[in-house]
Amino acid sequence: MPKKYHINTKATPLDLDFVFKFKIVRGENCINCGKCTKVCIYEAHKRRKDDPRKMADPNTVVCRNCFRCIQECPRGALEKSLDKDFANIGGAFWKPDMLLSLWKQAEDGQVPVSGAGYRGPFTGTGFDSMWTDMSEIVRPTRDGIHGREYINTGVDLGRKLNHLNFDSGGQLASKVPDTVALPIPILFDIPADNLSSNVKEALLKAATAINTCIIMPVAEITPEIEKYSNNIIPCLVPEEIDTHEAVVKKARLVAIEYSDAVLNDFPSLRGKIKKLGQALTIIRVPAVKDVEDIAARLAHSGAEIIHIVADYRGQERNGSAGTNGRLLKDIIRAVHSRLVEDRIRDEVTIIASGGIAMAEHVPKAMLCGADLTAIDIPLMVALGVRVYEEPEKLLIFPEGLDKISSSILTQRMVNLMGAWHSQILEMMGAMGIREARRLRGESGRAIFFEEIDKDTFGNLFRKREVVSL
Ligand code: SF4
Ligand code: SF4
Repeated sequence: MPKKYHINTKATPLDLDFVFKFKIVRGENCINCGKCTKVCIYEAHKRRKDDPRKMADPNTVVCRNCFRCIQECPRGALEKSLDKDFANIGGAFWKPDMLLSLWKQAEDGQVPVSGAGYRGPFTGTGFDSMWTDMSEIVRPTRDGIHGREYINTGVDLGRKLNHLNFDSGGQLASKVPDTVALPIPILFDIPADNLSSNVKEALLKAATAINTCIIMPVAEITPEIEKYSNNIIPCLVPEEIDTHEAVVKKARLVAIEYSDAVLNDFPSLRGKIKKLGQALTIIRVPAVKDVEDIAARLAHSGAEIIHIVADYRGQERNGSAGTNGRLLKDIIRAVHSRLVEDRIRDEVTIIASGGIAMAEHVPKAMLCGADLTAIDIPLMVALGVRVYEEPEKLLIFPEGLDKISSSILTQRMVNLMGAWHSQILEMMGAMGIREARRLRGESGRAIFFEEIDKDTFGNLFRKREVVSL
């Protein structure tokens, strides 16, 4: 049995300002008796350091909503109230609850539990209109995290053969192309601009710790971070290859930004990169309207790995909020179907990114047809970054983040990935799938709301044609 892939998580609180759904408030009638310091096992209540006769403000960060302090305060001085700023963070896609859940997963690396049962809607847009077949969940010993059977989340990047040739002596005649294996179907995508050095270092360390790779603009790959080169994917345009030969030579994977020139002459670009070293080439294609045509042409030209990049809400690049631009789920399905129709799907690796916001989006994207995913914003939320959508994407970094040690920030990103890995295992176990490679395009394991809605009610509520007599 192969050695089990494991992500080491460790409780890592971050004492920075974050917006919580509720906050604990201590009223004027507090008599500073200190009873709440004893009843709260999470140490949300402490005395002031400068004047221990008085109570400090409650620490909402560590509160776990047990209500014990509220019940036991002899003066009824404590109350939990809705934080009015909470509803204003995020937006239609990056919902406040989603951001809070990411923050909490980064805190302890645990699978989030809603406690009182799920009370939200059962369908929505994008991945929310997709349910997975959990029929194998009734077999507890085969269950994801706790089960005895090994569930492999590993994936391979690179060109594959669609058949093998053997010579007359029965020896393999086909040359099997090189691939890069990753133990988890998640890459770190190009980070936000102007990150402080400790955040950049933490991203590199976290990618290394979980044995994945991070895509970075080639200009940011300085000699100081060379020690992480095994886990860095330099991203560049073809014209930069000559200037950055040394970086390309060392890389296992190189990401090239898509352009018409890349599409028109992919073989010579790949030849140039191959001449320098062993790197496999990823072409980063914006998820525009005709992205499936571009992906098919690239695949036929010999592309090894195609990265479909939707916008930060998982929308088509030429769509905007409120328009009819496709969402990531449908974009991946269109690309996958097109490659299947062209009988070339098995030969090329597809990465999907943009709007991968929760652990469940990873297996869902793979069921739609991606081989793996790439993420960026969730890693920033793990560090306390707030996301706002309107009027445009805005990331607000918490004050003091640049002073926090990179090892704390690293552990929080590792925690987040540990929580996601556990959730992917749970989903795969419940679906009865033991190999992440088998998730790709396995749409029979998914139920798409739009399709069952059409099958069930299509004829009843379909607009009838008006026939004039
Ligand atoms: S238990 Fe109530 S009265 Fe006593 S210190 Fe805490 S908030 Fe104040
Ligand atoms: S509600 Fe529970 S966890 Fe929160 S501060 Fe009070 S005692 Fe602590």
